[in-house]
Order: sequence, then structure tokens, then C-alpha cells
Amino acid sequence: MTVARVVLDVPARALTEPFDYAVTPDLADVIGVGMPVAVPFGPRRAVGYVVELADTSEYTGALRPVDAVLGTALFDGHALDLARWIAHEYVAPLSEALRLFLPPGGAPRVVRGADGTWVYEGRQTAPVSTRIVTRVEGHTFAPRPNAVVQRAVLDALSEGPVTLPELSAEIAGAAAAVKALERAGAVETTDARRYRRPDTRSASAPRHAHTGEQAEAVRRILQAMNVGGTVLLDGITGSGKTEVYLAAIETVAAAGRGAIVLVPEISLTPQTVGRFRSRLGDDVAVIHSRLSAGERFDQWQLALEGRVRVVVGARSALFAPVRDLALIVIDEEHEPSYKQAQTPRYHARDVAERLIAIRGGALVLGSATPSMESQHAVETGRFERVALTQRVGGGSPPPVEVVDMGAEFTDGNRSIFSQRLRTELQAVTGRGDKAVLFLNRRGFASFLLCRECGFVPECPSCSVSLTYHEEGGRLQCHHCGHTTTAPVTCPRCDSPYLRKFGAGTQRAEVELETLLPGVPIIRMDADTTSRKGGHEAILTRFDSPGPAVLLGTQMIAKGLDFPDVTLVGVLSADTSMHVPDFRAAERTYQLLEQVAGRAGRGPKGGTVIIQTYWADHPAVLAVMRRDPSLLFDAERADRASIGYPPYVRLANVGFSGPSAPDVREAATRFAGTLAEQLPDGWRILGPSPAPIARLKNRWRWHLVLKAPADADISTVLAQVDTVTPGVDEVTRSIDVDPAGML
Ligand code: ADP
Ligand code: ZN
Ligand code: ZN
Repeated sequence: MTVARVVLDVPARALTEPFDYAVTPDLADVIGVGMPVAVPFGPRRAVGYVVELADTSEYTGALRPVDAVLGTALFDGHALDLARWIAHEYVAPLSEALRLFLPPGGAPRVVRGADGTWVYEGRQTAPVSTRIVTRVEGHTFAPRPNAVVQRAVLDALSEGPVTLPELSAEIAGAAAAVKALERAGAVETTDARRYRRPDTRSASAPRHAHTGEQAEAVRRILQAMNVGGTVLLDGITGSGKTEVYLAAIETVAAAGRGAIVLVPEISLTPQTVGRFRSRLGDDVAVIHSRLSAGERFDQWQLALEGRVRVVVGARSALFAPVRDLALIVIDEEHEPSYKQAQTPRYHARDVAERLIAIRGGALVLGSATPSMESQHAVETGRFERVALTQRVGGGSPPPVEVVDMGAEFTDGNRSIFSQRLRTELQAVTGRGDKAVLFLNRRGFASFLLCRECGFVPECPSCSVSLTYHEEGGRLQCHHCGHTTTAPVTCPRCDSPYLRKFGAGTQRAEVELETLLPGVPIIRMDADTTSRKGGHEAILTRFDSPGPAVLLGTQMIAKGLDFPDVTLVGVLSADTSMHVPDFRAAERTYQLLEQVAGRAGRGPKGGTVIIQTYWADHPAVLAVMRRDPSLLFDAERADRASIGYPPYVRLANVGFSGPSAPDVREAATRFAGTLAEQLPDGWRILGPSPAPIARLKNRWRWHLVLKAPADADISTVLAQVDTVTPGVDEVTRSIDVDPAGML
């Protein structure tokens, strides 16, 4: 073996293929697949990853040598296969796909140390350790009579080793005394690796005797492990899906094998994490974005070093180096956040399916509202569906009432609360129970609307409506942060009737305080949870005894499990209905169903009230009548006839840049090359300005490629991407199987 094939950590699709380097004899014994190396690249040094070792090279010139091996292997051959698949499928550079498998931290870099050696830098975090002090048995040292601190230290160590921070906390001046004692040979110190781990709320997750449906689900999952199958666990909220995951994971871990559990970022609440911890204890690492950099790094290391068998986390935890992986669980599989918004634009569900095809094991997709993609995979026999149809402990799901807000308005009710919801809120809190109210937007009121001419103030850079904030009467763009003072009269027609439309959490909070004097109103949105531990503090407050109202955005729709919640209200179902996306109806249904599932989880039962201006929307009817087919039958027919996923494949190619004509030119050029090589039965829509035509001072265009459901869309796009020259300052982004097209 004399040749190392190395993928450079240089993000360019042109560099997708590995480069060959010579392995000098001094490195031959240490170099291995998956290791980071420093290699010459033109006049510079670059970080690369060894993807193969070989005896010969097809390259005819003299090979340049690998400078240094920078660390231990970060991925294995399976990971490499998966990275290659991701790079191909999502038309991304291989280096970007490989980065998914690296420990969390900044971009890797190689620098030359003062002594001329190459140093791998830039995984910004480093391991930490704690100093442990041990008394040396049989030493003859006796401290002088006045050396009180040394005596105290030796005393403290008589029971066994103690960490230096603990000694210092108890004995003033312990550090200096330990040094002196060490010189005298009376104590020894060693460093032990310490793993930073976030505090978690302890949630109890007692082991229950399974219901018949649960036992059957666990059995089918374990069976699927033998054949590399995917199970769609279609279970209504409260049917005990999490319990099924836990039981399957415990079986896997008991056999010494590994599992990965993905949960949407917003539902990685301390409550969810606590449930996994309390059952799996120290055998679980947790990875999500609210951890500190050090915590994230250490949690990843726990998996890499084989110290834990289970990893729970958001999307990126799919790439955690879990050993002997046998099970992947994706909870709330319908969540759009499983699609990554930057290169490589992968979908966790599709990658997980590929991962088990490579490694073996089972994939479990859990949801109360499965995506149309997964439903379709069941229909075509690719997935196996297992249903949980009953709430555990019996009890039927709460009744759902729909209030027509247009009719309320005609009757003279100008409040954002219907008469029905007000009455119910007073009744529920009067009994000492709790209510959860769901709002789709943040801010005092979503936007200003002129009631005379219909004018809505928009961001000058982003062409989206500005959000109105009560504090200071500001208008703010939630894309770029642009802020101005709200006008008093309409800038277009001078009318004084500017109405705040689509109330946000703050306005609802103010109205609630008047309606329910003395009842704690707890707000939970991106503003109140951005601080570390914010989430946790809010839930603890809500959980304390007595009546309370929790008012929040999307993040309250999931995972919350409080038995005292007997009322759930949706203030306006309309916001999500009007998103310009073919999945708007599906998403509205999923959201309403999830929110409704927060009610009546305890023996007291509960009620769900949905307020909307569009009371006979199929998504609303489906939730109200507990019949998903009211939405999906129509939706399937529509999508099949118009040509939308899952009946066709889509790719969205986006173009953005500071000059509108240049962006248009880039889009037109790409569409031109694509048209020349377009296979029969494929179509190009556009190019046209994107629904959000301008964002952060960049103009945006896009085109949509439609292909048959089984088409290899990636090969065609990669080919066109390679041969189509770009336009200066215009960014091109290819999104295969997009989750949205704004
Ligand atoms: P889902 O994830 O489907 O919404 P959970 O797993 O959160 O449902 O279960 C809902 C509640 O029921 C939890 O409090 C859980 O501890 C409890 N539970 C689950 N399975 C059982 C069971 N077999 N017997 C009794 N309680 C159960
Ligand atoms: Zn006007
Ligand atoms: Zn803006």
C-alpha cells in the first residue's frame, strides 16, 4: 500500500473525486480510512479525508506525499458509501456530504505549528478533563505541624481519590497544597476525560405493561430488523408511540447494538429528553442546537468512543457515529424540518432509509399524521404500516369544535377570541384546569392592513409583509431584521383605518390578562425560549399546580404531555392555509391535528376549539370529524392530476444575486441547457421570480423540474450544473425533492 485516495475538504462540486497522494513509509503504519490528513493542494495545504488505500494510482505523474495524519478515523466505509450517495442524490460536493459525519464544530483547517509540524485546527472545541488526586499508599511524608492545608488534603483523600475542583471547593488553598504534596511524593494526580452534558429535567418514564397494539408494534419492529425493513408507526397522539420506541431500543441496547432517535428540533424539549434519559440512563447521548459547543462535541464523542449505544437528537444526529447501528427511529416523520435547508439538501427520512439499506437494521417512522410520501410508500409496498388506533388507558380523543370567525365579526365581536372560546377559557381556569392556546405567528399583530385600499406594508428588501410589534409600535421584517416605525395613516391612500391583522402572541396575552384576572398567562415562542433553559423554565411554571394558560407558536404543538390540560384553542387556522405551497393543506391538517392532540391527555378529558375564517376547509373538516380521508382522498386526486409529489418528482433550482437582470440571465441560461437534455415526459416550470422575490437585498428566481416518480433527477441536474456556465455574483442552488419552494 503506497497510495492514499483523499477527498479534499474544499467545497466545490468539481472536486468531488478523490485525489491520489503518496504514503511515505513513516505514515504507512498509522494511516487509515476515515482519518483526516494534511495534504498539499496547489500552493496551499488542505485538510482531506482518506477514503481509500491502494497499491497503485492511475495518475501518471509523480504523486505528492501526504504531509501528516491529523487524527483518528472519523468515519468508516459505510459512512463513506452513504456520503457518496448523498452527494449524488442531492447534487452536492462530496466534501460537504462528508462533513455531516464529522464531530460538531467549525470548519476544519490545517496550520503549521511553530516547530514546523502540521496541526489540525478548527474543530473549535476540544475535550476537557478533570484532575483527580490520589493519595500514594505507603508514602513516608509527614507534613510539618503548621501545614494545616496539606493535612486537610491528606485527610480528605484517606477515603479514596477526589477531584481537584472538589478539594478546592472544600479546602481553601488546596491546589497549592496538592502541588507541594505531589513534589513530596505523598499524592499523585491524573487527568480524566470529562464529558460535558446538559442538565435535563427529570421526567419519569415508568415501564408500562404494553397494550395489545403496542406489543404487536414492537414485535413487527424487531422483525423488520432482520430484513432491513421500514415500519410506518401510524398512531394517534397519546397512543403510546414513544413507549414503543423505548421498548424496541431497550431490546437493541440489551443485545449490545446501537440506535438513533430523531426528534424535530422544536420538540427536543427537556421533557422529551428527560423521558429517554430516565429509561436509558447513561446509555444515551443527546445532540441538538441549544447545547453549548462543548456539550455538543462531548455528546458526539460519547458515541464515537462507544460509551453510549443510543443517540437522541435533531436531524444531524442521523450521522452520529453510533456503533453497530440496528435501529433508527424518526419521530414526527412528517415534519418539514427533516429536510435540510442548506447544501447538502438532504431529507433525513430518505437518508435513513438508505442508511439501513447499507448497514442493515430497521427504520421506524412514527407519526399521528404521516406524510403523503410515507402513506404512498405504504400503498406501493415499500413501507409496512403498523397502526396504534387507541389512546392508552382508553378514553376517546376530545371533541373538536370549529368556530366561524367571519360570522363572529358580522355579529359585532371584534376580539380575537370568539364568544365560545372566552366562555370555555373562563370555565376551564375557573375549575383550576389548564388551557393551551396556539398561534401561528409571533409579534403583537402579524401585519398592518389598510381597510380602505388593502395596502400591506412590506419589507423593501424581501417582499414579505412586515410584522407589527406593539412594543414601540415597530414594523419588522422577520427575514432580514429591517425595522421601521409603523405609519399612522396609509402610505398609499392616506386613510386613517390601518388595522392590525392576524394577532400575535403579545396581543393575545394582553386580552387574556383582562379576560382571566389572576390566572398565570405563560407565553412560549421564539422570543421567550431563545435563552438557554428558557424552554425548561416555562414548562416548569406551566406545570405547577393551579390554573394556567400556555400561549405559544408551533413549538407548543408537539411533545407536551400535561394531564391537566382540558382545553386547546387554535386562534386562527388560516395563516397556514394561505402559504403559497402545494403542501399547504397537508401541513394545515398536520398542525391542527397535532395541536388538538395536546388536549384531554388525562382522565378529565378535554375540548378542542378551532377558530377560522374558512370553516369548511378539508383540513379543518378532517380534524373535526376525525377522518383523515376527508383531506387525503381529495388531496391524492388533486396531486395525481396536477402532477405533484408523491406522484412525480420535483427539483427546485434557485438563483439569487444583487442584480435582477443577472439573476434572470442565470436562470434562463440554466433552463436553456436543461431544455436541450430534457428526457421525454419531463417538464420545466419557469424560470420565474421566486414567491419571495427578494431576500436580504438579493433578487431571487427559480425554476421547477418535474419528472416521473422513479426518475433519476440527480444525474441530469448534475450534468446540466457542470456544463452551464454561471453568472458572476449569482448563486445557484439545487434542491432535489424540495420541502417548500418559497
Ligand atoms: P404518543 O407518543 O403516541 O403521543 P406516549 O408514548 O407519549 O404517546 O404515551 C402517552 C402517555 O401514555 C404517556 O404518559 C405514557 O407514559 C403513557 N403510556 C404509554 N404506554 C402505556 C401503557 N402501555 N400503559 C399505560 N400508560 C402508557
Ligand atoms: Zn390605504
Ligand atoms: Zn427584509
